[in-house]
Amino acid sequence: MEILKDLDKKGKARDWRGKKMSSLGLAKVYADIAEDIKPEYEKRGVHKRYKTITRNLKNKAGIITGVQTSEESMGLYDKNGKRVVNYEKRSENMKFCGTFLEFAKIEDSLKLIKANFCRVPLCPMCQWRKSMRTFFEVAKIMSIIEERHDYVPVFLTLTVKNCAVEDLNNTLDNVFDGWNELMRSGQLNPMFKGKRKNIVKGWFRALEVEYNSERDEFHPHFHAIMLVEKGYFKGKDYKRTDEWVQLWRKAARLDYDPICHIRRTRTDKGKRKEVAEVAKYTYKDASILHEKLSDGKKADVVKHLSGALHGRRLYAYGGVMKEIAAELKLKDIDKANLVKIDDDNINPSLVKMVLLYSWNMGVSNYTLARKRERSTQNE
Ligand SMILES: [Zn+2]
Repeated sequence: MEILKDLDKKGKARDWRGKKMSSLGLAKVYADIAEDIKPEYEKRGVHKRYKTITRNLKNKAGIITGVQTSEESMGLYDKNGKRVVNYEKRSENMKFCGTFLEFAKIEDSLKLIKANFCRVPLCPMCQWRKSMRTFFEVAKIMSIIEERHDYVPVFLTLTVKNCAVEDLNNTLDNVFDGWNELMRSGQLNPMFKGKRKNIVKGWFRALEVEYNSERDEFHPHFHAIMLVEKGYFKGKDYKRTDEWVQLWRKAARLDYDPICHIRRTRTDKGKRKEVAEVAKYTYKDASILHEKLSDGKKADVVKHLSGALHGRRLYAYGGVMKEIAAELKLKDIDKANLVKIDDDNINPSLVKMVLLYSWNMGVSNYTLARKRERSTQNE
């Protein structure tokens, strides 16, 4: 039996097994939630909605000869028309996430070329892929900005007070509104066309929700990057931390001074990487998964977390960053390719072997299922 060994550029083993195990763990939690939530869903009149898809039938000459209609599921809705999470489906899909991984072997390293990722929100395997993908995208956007402008990033962490588990959804409504309000204000709005100078040229924000098991509370906060002109730190528009605190307090309509961290880049050289690192916060493994909690408690916390995150834009770009993302035709992460996460194209003549690994329940690891030699003559 050959166990998967996929080493990164530094020679460190990529944790495929760990991610798969975490996904299986979360699939179990989702199955528990699906069971627990049945009475609540029944009370709320949750039902499946379908939409009718119409396709034209064509003959060999391409002439339309008729139409075919089919019913396609749009997900679960309650009686008020609000979309609700289908935990059962999430659990099923997550169970099969990454059960097979196909790699091209190039010299001594492996490059993923095919896999079945589930794309279920919070799935640790998919979060891992998404975080790498987002890192790559932000780094790419930043490299273009560096070519064209002389902007520097300001790193901000905007927090609100911890909230009770069941209050997360309301708290998130508030922080998202707060962000929109903050970025609408004339001086910060990159699109503002007025007399006042707009300080922020581009921005990026990523939501992170941590769980504090000691206090049984959530800690939602934004990590944000704001790109400003080089002279900002010495100019009259410079804002001290206490000024940011007041701006955020006003925008999020808080009745207390929130904790905000503001800093400049640590190294001028690693600027791009440092900015891209921020993108990873959103897709880091939910801390709750590693907590020692009873099954019931874990299900309750995950239920509130995934319910509150449902349908939200966890990260977003603005100003020049948004323009460049559009220029690069970057897709929304929910539709982005999670197999090919960077621009590295594989040169087929360098691929000597294609290896298929599959998840082996018996040994709880990935084992080699098929090996295909590739000789260049066949290409
Ligand atoms: Zn997944």
